[in-house]
Amino acid sequence: MFYTGNPNSVAAEYITPEREWNFNKLSADFSSVDVGRILSLPLSHHVASDYLIWHGIGGEYEVKSGYLFSCSSSDDTIKSVSNPNTAWWKSFWQLKLPPKVKIFAWKAIHNALPIAAELFKKKSLTSASCSLCLNAWESVGHALFSCKHARHVWKIVGFSFKNKAAVSMKIEDFLFQISECYTKSELETIFCTMWSIWSDRNNVIHGKLPQQPTVIYAKAQNFLNNYKSTQLLYLHAGLSPAATPSTCKAWTPPPPTCLKLNVDAAFDEGRNKIGFGAIIRDSNGKVRASMSHPINGCCQPQEMEAKGLFYSLKWARQFNFKVDMVETDSLILANALRKSTSNRSSFQDLIFDVQTQLSYHPTVCVNHVYRDGNQASHGLAKQALVLDNICTCLEGFPLAILSVVVKDSLIL
Ligand SMILES: [Zn+2]
Repeated sequence: MFYTGNPNSVAAEYITPEREWNFNKLSADFSSVDVGRILSLPLSHHVASDYLIWHGIGGEYEVKSGYLFSCSSSDDTIKSVSNPNTAWWKSFWQLKLPPKVKIFAWKAIHNALPIAAELFKKKSLTSASCSLCLNAWESVGHALFSCKHARHVWKIVGFSFKNKAAVSMKIEDFLFQISECYTKSELETIFCTMWSIWSDRNNVIHGKLPQQPTVIYAKAQNFLNNYKSTQLLYLHAGLSPAATPSTCKAWTPPPPTCLKLNVDAAFDEGRNKIGFGAIIRDSNGKVRASMSHPINGCCQPQEMEAKGLFYSLKWARQFNFKVDMVETDSLILANALRKSTSNRSSFQDLIFDVQTQLSYHPTVCVNHVYRDGNQASHGLAKQALVLDNICTCLEGFPLAILSVVVKDSLIL
């Protein structure tokens, strides 16, 4: 850990009066890697004495998980000494990338792409020159980084690489080197863009016209964003990708005279920012209030959802809304609120916070809803990611969610 602050400081000095980590103060005294680690510890709002917890949602120690942890940590030590590449591969497989892109990157590093220089060596091609620019040997480094077609794309993406290094170094070493300089989210963009550049190169070889660099980049971004939002959908629903929900349920209004609160959380990994969205509607679908609330942090999805619900309930109480129904698209959260448990974990601490807020709304019930029925609060959570402070609209909502609110009210 790298620390430049006052050696006598205590953790409480890095916590705001709103019980969130003070991002600016942390950034001033800790390295960015450590700030990320600290932000991943969610803070609860009730006073509790310190206690030791084990990794995982339950917080209870199990021999099996202890054995697995000890194997993985001793493996790490051995691997980091004997083979630094193993650590790189481990973090590579953890990147949130579509499987197709991971396989492509694996092939690129293992010289398994049908690149002209390799095919020439195997005498499958009569020339090793680049099929696109005809100006150089087509190595993986040339095709993906230093060829003028690739360079135009990287310029749009906003990354600049040393072109000489890309062709003179082994592609494996070159990628290891650039991995040191970029965040996980930037590396995900880089690998997806490499894949898109390669797809375009293949299309040209098969007789198609080359795409504009902006189109190649947009294809990479779309592929990555679609993959990430699908993964998030599974997480929200508490399902594994194999168990895709077969039914999509639209938003439904509460019974007459009742109010329904929908809540959601969104996350900007690159900026360690979490957005919470909340919307209260009546039986006619009329919006009574909406909120977008940003905080700094990067905890687990179910922890973000729990925090979002906590802030939304607190906000509803602050504006004297007597909420009758609450909906979240996190199945883990909805289930955790139903069960009473003696487990000790950071998630359980946040559940306790939510239960404290729920005690002010004694008749309220919290239900799980599919993502389709929670789009308005999702839009508000996303909106929070571009705000610096909490934003509340009474008797209204931001224009960004107009189409969703109208769509929900048409179903009535
Ligand atoms: Zn070229």
